[in-house]
Amino acid sequence: MPRKAYRIEINFSWCKQCGLCYWICPTKALVEGDLLYPKIDNEDKCIGCMLCENICPEMAIDVLPKEEVKTEA
Ligand code: SF4
Ligand code: SF4
Repeated sequence: MPRKAYRIEINFSWCKQCGLCYWICPTKALVEGDLLYPKIDNEDKCIGCMLCENICPEMAIDVLPKEEVKTEA
């Protein structure tokens, strides 16, 4: 079955280190990094829920679907 994968893009020049994005991330694909900036711990854990993108007051996060990888059995 094809599995959806996502790319997380963070615009660090817009980020105000509020911590909301990694606080809300249910899978901890995003975690707290240096100086309270978000850090992508493991993009493979991202389920594309968009919570981080929607909660970020600075609109500094984009979560984009990667091309679906087709696995033919
Ligand atoms: S889209 Fe959801 S799972 Fe992916 S990094 Fe954002 S909050 Fe975490
Ligand atoms: S929610 Fe936005 S502003 Fe807050 S830490 Fe995350 S990326 Fe930065």
